[in-house]
Amino acid sequence: MIDEVEDRRNQSHYNRRVNIYKQQQQHLPLEPYTHTYTVCTADLNHFVDPTNTSMALAFDEYGRPFIILREQESKSRLRGIDAQKANIAAGVAVSRILRTSLGPKGMDKMLQSPDGDITITNDGATILEQMDVDNQIGKLMVELSRSQDYEIGDGTTGVVVMAGALLEQAEKLLERGIHPIRVAEGFEISSRIAVDHLEKIAHKFDFSATNIEPLVQTCMTTLSSKIVNRCKRSLAEIAVKSVMAVADLERKDVNLDLIKVEGKVGGKLEDTELIYGIIVDKDMSHPQMPKQIEDAKIAILTCPFEPPKPKTKHKVDIDTVEKFQTLRKQEQKYFDDMVQKCKDVGATLVICQWGFDDEANHLLMHRNLPAVRWVGGVELELIAIATGGRIVPRFQELTPEKLGKAGLVREKAFGTTKDRMLYIEHCANSKAVTVFIRGGNKMMIEETKRSIHDALCVARNLIRNNSIVYGGGAAEISCSIAVEAAADKYPGVEQYAIRAFADALDSVPMALAENSGLSPIETLSAVKAQQIKENNHCCGIDCNDTGTNDMREQNVFETLIGKQQQILLATQVVKMILKIDDVISPSEY
Ligand code: ADP
Ligand code: MG
Repeated sequence: MIDEVEDRRNQSHYNRRVNIYKQQQQHLPLEPYTHTYTVCTADLNHFVDPTNTSMALAFDEYGRPFIILREQESKSRLRGIDAQKANIAAGVAVSRILRTSLGPKGMDKMLQSPDGDITITNDGATILEQMDVDNQIGKLMVELSRSQDYEIGDGTTGVVVMAGALLEQAEKLLERGIHPIRVAEGFEISSRIAVDHLEKIAHKFDFSATNIEPLVQTCMTTLSSKIVNRCKRSLAEIAVKSVMAVADLERKDVNLDLIKVEGKVGGKLEDTELIYGIIVDKDMSHPQMPKQIEDAKIAILTCPFEPPKPKTKHKVDIDTVEKFQTLRKQEQKYFDDMVQKCKDVGATLVICQWGFDDEANHLLMHRNLPAVRWVGGVELELIAIATGGRIVPRFQELTPEKLGKAGLVREKAFGTTKDRMLYIEHCANSKAVTVFIRGGNKMMIEETKRSIHDALCVARNLIRNNSIVYGGGAAEISCSIAVEAAADKYPGVEQYAIRAFADALDSVPMALAENSGLSPIETLSAVKAQQIKENNHCCGIDCNDTGTNDMREQNVFETLIGKQQQILLATQVVKMILKIDDVISPSEY
């Protein structure tokens, strides 16, 4: 209904504008409008350029000023090479933003949401996701980063930098008069060469449940470019251990849903821990209940510890002390029966969705049955799944089989506040683990969550496929050399595109060097020369100034599938952009 009224109102407003516009076209020349400037508000004056005849200022019947644009001029259409150039410029603009965030010395971005929330991040996918990109080609770049995030989880900045570099190269080729289709084909050929080459230079390594060092090293490379790189060793270990805890090594499969990442403001990043179980943001209902329960048998209840309440139609008259005493006894018996029922089935902990009043609370404490109250439905389900228990809706239905089992349930206090959390560890059925992040403020915790996500994805990718390539731009430089060499074998125009692709591959190490304060061209050419001379594909950019640019010594590894995916996805998007030769935007009134 309200929508309808709103619609009608908009419609009439629209009609009014159109009428004024028509009037103006028929009778009023645009020039005399200059005299209206004395009337209109000061703000609008600088918007309307008196020499611009496609724009005019008009007033509606309430005297409110608005601007009229001539319709033809507000429509835009780009064709052929202009369309391609405009699209390339848009794509390159987006990738330029991310370029400075690449690598261990990359900068972070601070993004403010419309309602004032602040995000500080280094993660390409997050930056693009939160940026308000209006341009359609810009949105393709956002999609590109997102698909890398979905499929691989890491390398979201690199993929956009790579796509931007390819677009820049494509523009040069188009200017030289090479047809976009030939460029696209050349890029396709080159991407296949690069992906095959990566396969050749990749290393396999062995790991087992006891030897997780290679996994940790690779996760550390991922974390080294994040804000949290101060604690990259401990965070990488946490990520690898949690992935190993839920991994099915035989099927080479990891269900990341079993890893919950929780955060609580306070403490320091070093306090971040891995919990083999789950945590719930609740505490024991009575301060004197035991804080630690071993081999807990948990009753998970959705029924309240309360005597049934009389419905509104009933009336209870209490006019003598005896009657009150009877009622009180009755109530106490109810509580007693409930507690007894829980004790009878062998529960040593009660987790309740509802609250219970002081009477019940006191009784529970007295009968030595620890309890937790006001646990949310979602958490209740999680506890049930993890401990292998059943959610029980009525006391009568409580049986020993329905109890959940956990090796240790403990309450932990934080800082000087009354903040307490319940740790439910060594659960019976599930392999679920929780990464519990501590940090100085909310932004830090959010960024740590994103960084841990990247590290978890990398560990999972390594379990799926244990091949690695060397990071720090070493893999890109090696591919660039291979692609460049292959270019000569192609007799057609494609060879220009293939060489251009090789140049674009160099842009990743160049960006790494630039961001680390090195001179990009000199550093790149030195490393490239070294790779060719020593036939060593491990030479990369020494971002941290460690004195060696051998990435094997620096332990800078990246996953093979991540790198391959980056090249494939970037090429795909660039091909798509090159094939657009007509851009018709809707006319904006
Ligand atoms: P992405 O979002 O693409 O993962 P990052 O900001 O994480 O972007 O940067 C990743 C790049 O930084 C990779 O090319 C990786 O090889 C490089 N890198 C990471 N750690 C190091 C290091 N210690 N030395 C040199 N290069 C590094
Ligand atoms: Mg990364």
